[in-house]
Amino acid sequence: MPAKRLLLIGAGHAHLEAISRIGEWTKSGIRVDVVTPSAFHYYSGMGPGLLGGFYAPEEIRFPVKKMVESRGGIFHEDIAVQIDADRRQVRLRSGALLDYDVLSCNTGSGVPGGIVEEGADVYTVKPIVNLVSARERISGDIRRRDLQIAVVGGGAAATEIAGNLRRLCDLPGAKRADITMYSGGPLLASQPARVSRITRRNFDSRDIAINETGRVKSIRSHELEIENGARHPFDLLFLAIGVQPSKLFTDSGLQTGPDGGLAVNRFLQSPTHPEIFGGGDAVYFLEKPLDKVGVHAVGQNPVLAENLPAFLKGRSLTAFDPKANYLLILNLGDGTGIFSRKRIIFDGRIAFGIKDWIDRRFIARFAA
Ligand SMILES: Cc1cc2nc3c(=O)[nH]c(=O)nc-3n(C[C@H](O)[C@H](O)[C@H](O)COP(=O)(O)OP(=O)(O)OC[C@H]3O[C@@H](n4cnc5c(N)ncnc54)[C@H](O)[C@@H]3O)c2cc1C
Repeated sequence: MPAKRLLLIGAGHAHLEAISRIGEWTKSGIRVDVVTPSAFHYYSGMGPGLLGGFYAPEEIRFPVKKMVESRGGIFHEDIAVQIDADRRQVRLRSGALLDYDVLSCNTGSGVPGGIVEEGADVYTVKPIVNLVSARERISGDIRRRDLQIAVVGGGAAATEIAGNLRRLCDLPGAKRADITMYSGGPLLASQPARVSRITRRNFDSRDIAINETGRVKSIRSHELEIENGARHPFDLLFLAIGVQPSKLFTDSGLQTGPDGGLAVNRFLQSPTHPEIFGGGDAVYFLEKPLDKVGVHAVGQNPVLAENLPAFLKGRSLTAFDPKANYLLILNLGDGTGIFSRKRIIFDGRIAFGIKDWIDRRFIARFAA
């Protein structure tokens, strides 16, 4: 009998446990292919901290190519462009075709760039590796000239980026940096009011402006325009206006949610193609819409790692039970954080210390 084929597309946060079990699966005769565009996957939870200088790039990334190959898997530095579910084949950008018996999709999400005109100097906050090049550039530029930096977005990612930019721009010998967050409405509107109050107080004291006058409607070279018509200049801009899955699933004619994410049931399995699974930002969880946060992607790890071989062997599947009240800790970029879970909200160095400990432990668990 030919070997069963397991294909993982995207080596993101939800596939790390599956990748760590490749050795076990290849020993039992399963062929495992992994397709993802880079040999390293950057951990989003530590991305803003990298921008601020708390971490070096090597500290916040998973060496996914090495993790796959050292366990006997086949690594393809490539991108999946189409899933042919009838033929059970995935087409890659290089033109290669990969067959599968079971497929798992953890292709993440990107920042929608529809408001950005060509030629604008913009860093989207995903992929996280963009923050590595942004840090290099700003740490050079700020020693030579004043900078006006815009952060467009009013959620957790934009807040962490703005706070960490202040730390980056306060290097010894640096020129002046004007940092403005264009939050498109009330800052951190989906968080408890206390989280946004603490952030405002912190940003006020660190000279980070917050513009809450309306949504940014267009971004062109060195100028953005708000829906009320006001225009503001900038030298460079970070775009953190939320995320959406790629068009891979709609383009492939698979069942998706309203955001274009692959529709999955509680077993993280496509209801129309039971041999297709998925996790993280790329999926639309049919039981209830989930926030696009790493907490869910991380929580889906053991479920995918169980269900992929279970499906191949005809065993029963495990259901994913999303955390109702997950912990959020914001890294404000000055060595403090805001801890928020249910009604427990506090800020300070201990909050950041807890985040740092959780994040470093997560990296160490898989990257070793
Ligand atoms: C700045 C920032 C900070 C954040 N901080 C936190 C936090 O502290 N806590 C939290 O819970 N959430 C946080 N989030 C949210 C978190 O980033 C996402 O929810 C998380 O990245 C989702 O993980 P994922 O594995 O689904 O996707 P990703 O991390 O995006 O991984 C997807 C992988 O798939 C690859 N890929 C994409 N398309 C293809 C393709 N077609 N073929 C093959 N491979 C492909 C990508 O290159 C990538 O390696 C943050 C987000 C941002 C932007």
